[in-house]
Amino acid sequence: MKADIVIVGSGVAGLYCALNLPKEKSIIVVTKNKARRSDSFLAQGGICVLRDENDYDAFYEDTMKAGHYENNPDSVHIMIHSSQEVISDLVSFGVRFEKNGEEFAYTREGAHSHQRILFHEDETGKEITSHLLETARARENITIIENYTMVDLICEGNECHGIIGHDENGAYSAIQADYTVLATGGIGGIFEHSTNYKHLTGDAIALALKYGIKLQHIDYIQIHPTTLYTEKEGSREFLISESVRGEGAILLNSKGERFVNELLPRDVVANAIFAEMKKEGTKHVWLSMAPIPEEEIRTHFPNIYQRCLDEGYDATKEPIPVVPSQHYFMGGIDVDRYSKTSMDRLYAAGETACNGVHGRNRLASNSLLESLVFAKRAARHITEGYTALTTDTEITVDETKYENYQEEYKAAVLAAIEKERSSHE
Ligand SMILES: Cc1cc2nc3c(=O)[nH]c(=O)nc-3n(C[C@H](O)[C@H](O)[C@H](O)COP(=O)(O)OP(=O)(O)OC[C@H]3O[C@@H](n4cnc5c(N)ncnc54)[C@H](O)[C@@H]3O)c2cc1C
Repeated sequence: MKADIVIVGSGVAGLYCALNLPKEKSIIVVTKNKARRSDSFLAQGGICVLRDENDYDAFYEDTMKAGHYENNPDSVHIMIHSSQEVISDLVSFGVRFEKNGEEFAYTREGAHSHQRILFHEDETGKEITSHLLETARARENITIIENYTMVDLICEGNECHGIIGHDENGAYSAIQADYTVLATGGIGGIFEHSTNYKHLTGDAIALALKYGIKLQHIDYIQIHPTTLYTEKEGSREFLISESVRGEGAILLNSKGERFVNELLPRDVVANAIFAEMKKEGTKHVWLSMAPIPEEEIRTHFPNIYQRCLDEGYDATKEPIPVVPSQHYFMGGIDVDRYSKTSMDRLYAAGETACNGVHGRNRLASNSLLESLVFAKRAARHITEGYTALTTDTEITVDETKYENYQEEYKAAVLAAIEKERSSHE
């Protein structure tokens, strides 16, 4: 197969990048599973936006403080200043955010000093990504190939010429392209407990390790403080959005006592929960939504409310059991402010990339925004500097090289994370 640009991943980063590339370029988007099975669809809480210039300093400070000031200030600045443009793009694609009359309604999550988060019920990611997907499907120049897994990059020296992958029947093929964009999302699939889809196993990180493409902070992994505790074996942990705490829910130990300020940054709250569980010898703590009016629970958090009911808890009447789980990857493939990696003709955007926006810990609801802003910048940079490849080598795929690739890639990523972590101790 051949395309002008191949994009790996159909989450917000991959789709929005595709939609910002010129309509005369042929684009192939491949996705390891069904197009709708990406973490982007799971995002509950919302997406941050700069409401007006008066909030710039506070938005910047909240992001930096949550990231322990290890963020790249330039990237944070770009993200905040591009936020209104991204939101108007989304609205033009048909995305609906909650409103009070004609004005947007804003919510708040942990570590935000102001209400600056746009949301659609508790399914903001689904609302955004399904509209991006629908728009991409309607574009004649974009082809989406589902159930196609990238297993390798086609590299000529330090230049990327596309990818190698296989379809759902295990048939291997090469997709040659002038430019390649990696938008493969997070790494939750390599952990036992994660809120991420299991098929998100950091394959792009494994390939970066293979080819010496620069990585950054790969041991910066966020644990979400509140996922629904269940004894059942599940495919992934169900997230209880931070905006539930933002709206007033409180954390309690087994004696019904509060033990932490619920709106502190995620890593601080998660550590406080772990410490409380250890002290009490329990497998979870409790989250009480009693301070939130019943009607608000049902209307703002309908899916969370329903899921809790399915698990046997009526959140309007009783506390629900919660436990921290792996949630987000702050590190990733090192990219510049245009999402370009250290390999020529290769870009990375979304959760698999690291442009330094999040520092050591992500501020809630900044990741959809960061993914969108930097995916659009990748598209612009590719467009502005576009040159076609002059080589036209026929690629023959040696399938035997990939017999155990998934296990090998997972092991390589875990080992690299461990190595990075121990180098800091
Ligand atoms: C439960 C949950 C709630 C969240 N809530 C929020 C929120 O409220 N606000 C917020 O800002 N962020 C939230 N996040 C984080 C946010 O959803 C993600 O960071 C963001 O959607 C990442 O987008 P992405 O496009 O980079 O990756 P994804 O949306 O995960 O997409 C990755 C894509 O890559 C594909 N892929 C992976 N490997 C391969 C391969 N080898 N070959 C082919 N395709 C491949 C996958 O199939 C998928 O299509 C939440 C995350 C979770 C899990």
